[in-house]
Amino acid sequence: MKNRCSWCTLPTNLPVVFAAKSPLLEWLEKKIDKNAVSLDVHRDDIWGENADWSELQLGDKLESELIAYDELITTITRKYICEKCLIEDQRLSDMYYPIPEDDMDFTIDDLT
Ligand SMILES: [Zn+2]
Repeated sequence: MKNRCSWCTLPTNLPVVFAAKSPLLEWLEKKIDKNAVSLDVHRDDIWGENADWSELQLGDKLESELIAYDELITTITRKYICEKCLIEDQRLSDMYYPIPEDDMDFTIDDLT
């Protein structure tokens, strides 16, 4: 029996995975970047762990969107996600949330 993808509702045969309530949203990621450029700050100043919105003029609308988005993408539960959505989410994750090299536990040299 087929299950339905929690994100796009299409049928999928993939097993259940841990996934966020919502996939990464490219239009919102682009909006964060656009605002960082127009405010002349780094993307991390808006959307990083140490972002301080009291120093920025983001506007109530964008702040509400970001708070909602943060809740959606950080609430992880078991659900079915189709292959197409997983691939697209990985693409956006690589683009907007690359893993910094210093965060890696080991380097290739350690393996040799
Ligand atoms: Zn899907």
